[in-house]
Amino acid sequence: MSAGLYIHVPFCASVCPYCDFAVTLAGEERRQAYVAGIGREAALAAADGLKFDTVYLGGGTPSALAADQLGEILGAVRGRLQVGEDTWTFLEINPEDVSAASVSAWRELEVRTVSLGVQSFDDAALGFLGRRHTADDARRALDRLREGGFATVSLDLIYGLPGQSADGWCRQLEEAAARSADHLSCYQLTIHSGTVFGRRQARGSLGEAVEPVQAELFLLTHRVLAELGYEGYEVSNFATAPRHRSRHNLKYWSHEPYLGLGPSAHSFVGRRRFWNQRRLRAWQRAVDAGCRPLEGSEELGDAELALEAIMLGLRTADGVDLGSLRSRYGVDLVELNRRAIERFCDGGHLVLDSGRLRPTVSGMAIADTLARELEVGASG
Ligand code: SF4
Repeated sequence: MSAGLYIHVPFCASVCPYCDFAVTLAGEERRQAYVAGIGREAALAAADGLKFDTVYLGGGTPSALAADQLGEILGAVRGRLQVGEDTWTFLEINPEDVSAASVSAWRELEVRTVSLGVQSFDDAALGFLGRRHTADDARRALDRLREGGFATVSLDLIYGLPGQSADGWCRQLEEAAARSADHLSCYQLTIHSGTVFGRRQARGSLGEAVEPVQAELFLLTHRVLAELGYEGYEVSNFATAPRHRSRHNLKYWSHEPYLGLGPSAHSFVGRRRFWNQRRLRAWQRAVDAGCRPLEGSEELGDAELALEAIMLGLRTADGVDLGSLRSRYGVDLVELNRRAIERFCDGGHLVLDSGRLRPTVSGMAIADTLARELEVGASG
């Protein structure tokens, strides 16, 4: 089974008020040290012996690095790790970094999927989210990327903003479709403590949409996008055709191995999860000293792995592969949960078919609740 390689690029030009990713405003000197550090970390990780068929540059803002720095990173991982010839390379991009020159440089780096952080086509929403681009910048960037000939152009959008109406959100989806996005990732606004929005929430001046509104917007998003020709293949992800699904993220959702490089990156290999130092300085110190920059790790038992596979599976339209659950973790899910599964099927949340337990859209909306109701036995 080929693994996925994730590279966390922590640099951003400013920090958005809702962001809780590991990001930094560090300048050129630390960027160059980071680029060299990724090469060192790749050399250290080569001993794991993994073979990769996807490489995902996420962040942070990978497009904030110069094209030759991205080239150095890709050259290092392609040279030091077993990265196959036909590997699919993904790049997260912010609209302000898109120019004719950057598009052609990214094409030369053999990037196949670009994921553009549009977030909204509405200037007031972009202002609220503290983004550096305008709606017109996003439109121009999208046109450029489309003309660039990438295999898949994906957009990120955020919904559930204070004061946003259902109609206003539908207009965002319609514009994304009208501009021929192949793939959409749509996330509800989540407020994390430790962010600017988190502090505003603590003071009572900001809040997330209440639960019934969140559920309504979730179902609306899936319904409208289905009408616009997008398959909701995961809770937050939509594609116009199977070839545009994120083959890298599918590895996370189907419990396949992945390795993360860079500060805060997580890995899953065999039964082991491990994660890197979150802060750039701590990560850099470790790789410069020739050590794996790990902050923690855990070994998972069969029951934990099975529960995780169910939780992840029920977030995807393909659902849980029952045969794989049995052979990998020794769990016969239907045998253990006959009554509950019947109840969820009768309630229109799950469908049992061809060896898979699939969620309907209403099932996806409560995927975590469904998973928690299912027994996986006491093994592991
Ligand atoms: S651009 Fe993205 S990663 Fe950077 S601060 Fe904003 S939300 Fe976070």
